[in-house]
Amino acid sequence: MTDQSYDGAAQLADVNEAILQAAKTVDRDPGEVSLVAVSKIHGVERIRPVLQAGHRLFGENRVQEAEQKWPQLRQDFGDVTLHLIGPLQTNKVKAAVATFDVIQTLDREKLARALAKEFARVDKHLPVYIQINTGEEPQKAGILPTDADAFIALCRDELQLEVCGLMCIPPVDEEASLHFALLAKIAARNGLTGLSMGMSADFETAIAFGATHVRVGTAIFGSRPKPPLK
Ligand SMILES: *Cc1c(COP(=O)(O)O)cnc(C)c1O
Repeated sequence: MTDQSYDGAAQLADVNEAILQAAKTVDRDPGEVSLVAVSKIHGVERIRPVLQAGHRLFGENRVQEAEQKWPQLRQDFGDVTLHLIGPLQTNKVKAAVATFDVIQTLDREKLARALAKEFARVDKHLPVYIQINTGEEPQKAGILPTDADAFIALCRDELQLEVCGLMCIPPVDEEASLHFALLAKIAARNGLTGLSMGMSADFETAIAFGATHVRVGTAIFGSRPKPPLK
């Protein structure tokens, strides 16, 4: 899969520059916006150039894939921070806590309890983001906006989780800014500062609405190979 036309360092630089400009436009400090480079599906040969360019913050959406790719990359590059940005099944909690540094997709009570238990068992307390289903899409994971305040309280007060913010994935066919604004509003009224929102197509808009973490895959690594047919 070597690809002569892929220049990870240049694409990373372009995205960093776009983040800088987007922040400037709305008078935000660009230092408040972290770029989570989403390397899912891509092989290590596409990830290494981005690490070599100095980037250290990455996102993966599958536990098993991250377990295969990242131990070696961590060994070779050090101080990598890896966020889980995909759905987490409770039977994968142990592996996820061992593999990731931040869980962005806390989306139900059963998972919150399983994470709290595993954090205590291994004495490793990962920061978490709560995923909000801002579009109230039945097929999509996440806490409904009306349930958000109670769920945040459960996670923080009862389960003592380190909740640093909220994340959302807006419906594909709707104006993303409405969802970014809603996420920011729920976070603000709960005293949360972290906002993980915005992907390749809309990260600049997300920054205008207060994103602290943008999750960008395609704009850095190129389009993803299609998974093999099952
Ligand atoms: C794949 C993915 C991204 C990155 O999407 P791009 O459009 O490639 O930037 C961001 N967030 C989540 C949750 C994803 O699954």
